[in-house]
Amino acid sequence: MLSGDKAIELWEQVRQKLKIEAGDTVFSNWLGLMVLSSFSHGKIVIAVRSKFHKDWIEPRYGNRIRTLWQGLSKDVYSVNLIVDESLTGKSSKKLEDSSSSILNLSSPLDPRYTFEKFVVGPSNNFVSAAAERIAESDDVTFNPLVIYGGVGLGKTHLMHSIAWKIRESNPNRRVVYLSAEKFMYQFVRALRQQDTMVFKEQFRSADVLMIDDVQFIAGKNSTQEEFFHTFNALVDQNKQIIVSSDRSPTDLEGIEERLRSRLGWGIVGEIHQTTYELRLGILQSKSDDLKNCTIPKDVIEFLAHKITSNIRELEGALKRLVAHSQLVGRPVTLESAHDVLHDLLRVNSRRVTIDAIQKKVAEYFNIRLSDMSSPRRARAVARPRQIAMYLAKQLTSKSLPDIGRTFGGRDHTTVMHAVNRIEELSIEDSLLADDIELLKRTLDP
Ligand code: ADP
Ligand code: MG
Repeated sequence: MLSGDKAIELWEQVRQKLKIEAGDTVFSNWLGLMVLSSFSHGKIVIAVRSKFHKDWIEPRYGNRIRTLWQGLSKDVYSVNLIVDESLTGKSSKKLEDSSSSILNLSSPLDPRYTFEKFVVGPSNNFVSAAAERIAESDDVTFNPLVIYGGVGLGKTHLMHSIAWKIRESNPNRRVVYLSAEKFMYQFVRALRQQDTMVFKEQFRSADVLMIDDVQFIAGKNSTQEEFFHTFNALVDQNKQIIVSSDRSPTDLEGIEERLRSRLGWGIVGEIHQTTYELRLGILQSKSDDLKNCTIPKDVIEFLAHKITSNIRELEGALKRLVAHSQLVGRPVTLESAHDVLHDLLRVNSRRVTIDAIQKKVAEYFNIRLSDMSSPRRARAVARPRQIAMYLAKQLTSKSLPDIGRTFGGRDHTTVMHAVNRIEELSIEDSLLADDIELLKRTLDP
């Protein structure tokens, strides 16, 4: 299925192609004035500003526009032109009574991104509670809400959930949701068309303004300036602002101090790295939604254990398993999961580094980190060093010579000896076995 962002990106490509094919004059008078109005379930709706425009464009370019869309994505089923007179934009009466011009500013929302489908755990419960609270209440008490967290951890999902919820509970509130990139793009276009008044009015008539991935405007000074003024104008009118960012407001470099500090005024909620339980919950929920496929419990646990980077990757893994099972006509098993996800599992397991192992082991046995690579052979440092080598072999995909090099340029036979020695010892010595088990668990949870 096409996401909203993808639809916008494809629309831009369609526009560029039309511009080349039809030439600048036709483009600037007719085709360039079309706006992507909505997108859902493969149905693209494009708005033109009058019946006159529609009657001109449809017979000449209608089929071409369809072909271009369908050439870019198999997920596009239909492309329709509609008339939206508010696009003339200049009359402010239209702006007041039409939420459709606002809808044109706003990016389409993904129907799967709702609160119902958002699984809550310790890593996201604070921010999701704040998000629900804001979505449910018409009062603006927390302003702005900043949702921040690493890639693929659910920022966009939460943003869409808020927008859906507000639209559902109070359809009169005008919600504008778009990425910072699209905000910039709209702004630049308004500048080019000398339409900044309309641009400003449209954004300032929003009741809830949501900007996704605000870090994008870092360093883009005029866009930032415009956003700052929009921000202030809305806050002055007691309108809600919600932004997401891949880092906390204090860490946003390239953002002017006054904007940065203002972003920190409201609630700043972080989405942390996932926990095993959350990953389990998400996989459970996603696999319950699958129609023709069941995922055995051991496979779900295996994925939750192994794929720790982010939720997007976790979902991607699940999708691959399902696709593979449908392709070969066999059910998903632990074995097929190992096979199909081979590369993904390696990337995820490479997350434990030798550095981390050396540090942890040195800490644990209370020796200096430098002793990991020193030539000292005293038992008190040699044994922990061997344990660290053993763990490096077990927990990373590094070769013996590579491991040797990171331990002060030792030979690969030394590493092999260490690995064998620790294996033997841990059979006889249950205390040592416990130490190793504990270290393993802290390094590779
Ligand atoms: P971000 O915007 O932070 O990069 P997304 O919101 O695009 O991340 O999330 C990536 C994928 O993971 C989406 O498909 C989303 O539905 C899913 N996802 C993220 N967090 C959750 C969650 N808590 N529960 C269910 N699905 C989630
Ligand atoms: Mg996102």
